[in-house]
Amino acid sequence: MSGFDYDLFVIGGGSGGVRAARVAAGEAGAKVALAEEDRYGGTCVIRGCVPKKLMVFASEYAGVVEDAQAYGWQLAQGPFDWTSFRTRLNAELDRLEKVYRSLLKGSGVETFDARATIAGPHAVKLSTGEEKTAKHILVATGGHPVRPDLPNAHLGIVSDDIFHLDALPKSLLIIGGGYIACEFAGIMNGLGVEVTQYYRGAQILRGFDDEARGLVAESMRESGIDLHVGTNIMEMAPAGADHALSHAGTGSDAAMGATAQDRQVRDSRDAPQTAAGGPVWVKSTNGAERVFDKVLFATGRDPNTAGMGLEEVGVSLGRRGQIVVDGYSQTAVPSIYAIGDVTDRVNLTPVAIREGMAFVETVFKGNPTKVDHELIPSAVFTQPELGTVGLSEEAAREKEEIEVYCTSFRPMQTAFAGRSDRALMKLIVSKASRKVLGCHIVAPGAGEMIQLAGIAVKMGATKEDFDRTVAVHPTMSEEIVTMRSPMRTG
Ligand code: FAD
Repeated sequence: MSGFDYDLFVIGGGSGGVRAARVAAGEAGAKVALAEEDRYGGTCVIRGCVPKKLMVFASEYAGVVEDAQAYGWQLAQGPFDWTSFRTRLNAELDRLEKVYRSLLKGSGVETFDARATIAGPHAVKLSTGEEKTAKHILVATGGHPVRPDLPNAHLGIVSDDIFHLDALPKSLLIIGGGYIACEFAGIMNGLGVEVTQYYRGAQILRGFDDEARGLVAESMRESGIDLHVGTNIMEMAPAGADHALSHAGTGSDAAMGATAQDRQVRDSRDAPQTAAGGPVWVKSTNGAERVFDKVLFATGRDPNTAGMGLEEVGVSLGRRGQIVVDGYSQTAVPSIYAIGDVTDRVNLTPVAIREGMAFVETVFKGNPTKVDHELIPSAVFTQPELGTVGLSEEAAREKEEIEVYCTSFRPMQTAFAGRSDRALMKLIVSKASRKVLGCHIVAPGAGEMIQLAGIAVKMGATKEDFDRTVAVHPTMSEEIVTMRSPMRTG
C-alpha cells in the first residue's frame, strides 16, 4: 500500500457497496473500509426488494384461500393481522442485516457506522469527525424516494414508510405509475385496503411493452384497484382543515363521478383530525375531491449525492444529481468510482451488484471490465406479474422489421377456480436475423419464467431455437415455444 489508510474506501453498505467491498477484500486481498450511515443491506434489503416481496407474498394469500375453496378445500378466510406480519418482517430484516454485517467482517472489511462524505480525491470524512484516506473511493450511496413539489406534500408517505405503518389504512391513494406504485397497489389491495391510483400519463408502466402494460392495468382494475390514468393530484391538505373545507363543494358529485362512499368520507372531514398521519383531503386534476386515510407518493427516486462534497473535488453530476461515470464506473476524478442507483443507469439490485464486481475486476484484478447493460431481464410483481427482457414491440419496430408472436389465454389453475385472469406471452422477432429481440410475459410466476427465457434471449436465440425446444406440458410457459404464426409483422 502506498501511504493511504486503505486501498479502497466504500461509501454505502447497500447491494453494490457491500458486494464490491467483500470481493475486493476477500478475493483481491485489498485493505478495505466501508461506511454505512443507516442499516446494512441498503434499499434492497431494508426498504425495497426484500420487504416488498414478502408483502407481495402476504397479499396473495387471500386469493389462495379463495382458490383453495374452489378446489374443494373447506377453509375460512380470516382477517389479515398487520401487526403480527410486521413483527415477523422486522425480525427477518434484522436477521438479514446481521448477515450483511458478518459477510463484511468475514471478508476482512473494516466497517464504520457513520455518514461519509468526500474530503478530497483520496480522502473521506466521517460523521464521527475522523478522516480516512484511500487509494480508491467507491461511492455506492443509492437513492431516496422523492415527493412532488406540491404544498403539503409532507402529508403523504413514501415507499420507505410503508414498512413501518402502525396499522393498515382503510383507504390509500397511490400517486405514480411506475413499478413501485403498481406493486404497492397490488399489495395493499390484496391486504384489504381500498386502493385508488392516479397516474398522470396515458398508461402505467411506461417503457414496458404496450400490450403487456395494458393487460396489467386491466387486471389491476379487475382485482379492485381504482386506477385512473391521465390523472394527477393538484392539492392536498389535512382532512377537516379550513383549507380543505374551503374547497368543498367545488363541482357537483355527479359531475365528478363521486360515489356515496366518497361523499361519506368527505363528510367525515367535519370531524376534527390531526394533520400529521391523519386522513388527507385531495383534489385531483379530474376535479374529484376525496379523503384518503393515506396518500403514497411513488413518484420517483433521486440519487443520494447532496452534501457529499462530490462536485467540490471535481466529480460531475448529471441533471438529476446522479454521478456521471464511464463504462468502467469511473468518475471525472480518476481515484473515485461510483456504482448502483447513485449513477442512475439501470436501477436494479443485480445491476448494482454487477457494477460492483466489474469495478473490482477493473481496479483490483487487472482485468478492465465494462458492465453489460444490454438485455437485462426484470419483473414487476403485480398480480399477475410482468416479466420482461429486451425490446418492447414499439421500440423494436422503430429499429427494424419485426414479427410479433403473441398469445393470450386463461391459466388453467385460476380458470378452474372461476377467475377471469388472463395471461400473455409475447415474442418480438427480428425479420432479418430471426433473433428474439424481446420476450414479455404477463402471468402468475412471470418473474421466475423470464429469468430462464432471459438466458436464451441473451445467448441470441432465434425464433427457430425456441420452436426446436419441446414444450413442458401442461404449463403456462409452454406457450412460449408453441407459437407458430406471427400475429403481426412489419
Ligand atoms: P442502496 O441499496 O440504496 O444502498 C445505498 C446505501 O448507502 C444505503 O444503505 C444508504 O443508507 C447508504 N448511504 C447513503 N449515503 C451515505 C453516506 N453519505 N454515508 C454512508 N452511507 C450512505 N430492485 C430489483 O432488482 N428488484 C426489485 O424487486 C426491486 N424492488 C424495489 C422496491 C422498492 C420499494 C425500492 C425502493 C427499490 C427496489 N429495487 C428493486 C431497487 C433496488 O433496491 C436498488 O436498485 C438497489 O438497492 C441499489 O443498490 P445500491 O447499492 O446502488 O444502493
